[in-house]
Amino acid sequence: MKELLKKLCDAHGASGYEDNVAEIIKNELSKYSDEVVKDRLGNVIAKKGSGNPVIMIAAHMDEIGFVVKHIDKKGYIWFITIGGFYEPAIFGTRIVIHTEKGNVIGVVGSRPPHLMEEEERKRPIKKKELYIDVGAKNKEDAEALGIKIGDSITFDQEMKFLPNGFVTGKAIDDRAGCVALIELMKHLDEFKGTVYAVATVQEEVGLKGAKVSAFKIKPEVGIVLDTGLAGGCPGIKEQETDAKSGKGPVITYIEAGGRGLIADPLLNKWLIKVAEENNIPVQLEVMDSGMTDGAIMNITGEGIPTTSISIPSKNIHSPVEICNIRDIENAVKLVVYAIKKGVPF
Ligand SMILES: [Zn+2]
Repeated sequence: MKELLKKLCDAHGASGYEDNVAEIIKNELSKYSDEVVKDRLGNVIAKKGSGNPVIMIAAHMDEIGFVVKHIDKKGYIWFITIGGFYEPAIFGTRIVIHTEKGNVIGVVGSRPPHLMEEEERKRPIKKKELYIDVGAKNKEDAEALGIKIGDSITFDQEMKFLPNGFVTGKAIDDRAGCVALIELMKHLDEFKGTVYAVATVQEEVGLKGAKVSAFKIKPEVGIVLDTGLAGGCPGIKEQETDAKSGKGPVITYIEAGGRGLIADPLLNKWLIKVAEENNIPVQLEVMDSGMTDGAIMNITGEGIPTTSISIPSKNIHSPVEICNIRDIENAVKLVVYAIKKGVPF
């Protein structure tokens, strides 16, 4: 599982440009499913079993990234962001521009602090001040490398293994969920009904893939596997989140103060019972901000009772996200045992 996580995190797929990641996930899912298809938006949908209940499990495969907006005369690349960023954290990162001619490496630069006035230095850098340097001599040179408006850009950051089960890299949000999705299909046998494992597109930009796939599948139960905030590190108060990385997957009750998913209470009771019965560590969470695919699945069609399980992650939405492999393993166990036990309605 560690190798698959690394393979998926190191693959590139910003929202709307998920093809490379989709290919890997489709190949993996086809080993453990009865049927795998890609829908019109690019969602990868794997099916296993038949009859009722119909359960849809979703994990998004897109990652936050950038898109080329403008190439200036000097050959610098200007970009827009795709997904939620803390803007000052973009400066100083190494990125990959995905062009028709292949990958081009660049770095995100800005005006040096040495030249800044006192006031300027005190305020955080804004994304509009940031540009990408690919080592081009001028615009024509940059274009000769294959770079053009609309090219997708992602962080150039290889996943590394840390002690105690921790890993760090880009796109752990939500390739950690994608790995769990693949692993649970691998371990699912002898259950009642149909399970659809869906790797969704464009979650980071408005939960779009989940909306169309849930509409197509019309499941009776929805489960989302995503990453969530991990506390227990500097800068996060205990009352802001109880969830800690390495202490188990997190069962969410409420997202974004109720504007996101309000999880179905019966589904959460079911998951907690399964965790108790099988000695699986889980944590509970109520969130005042942040949403998952569950928010849209829940209100698709005639309404789908949905819940969300998250892998607590540190430094979320940065090139140095951290999660713990054990939390992914326990999320897989939780969902597999829950489905074998049977949905509560
Ligand atoms: Zn996510």
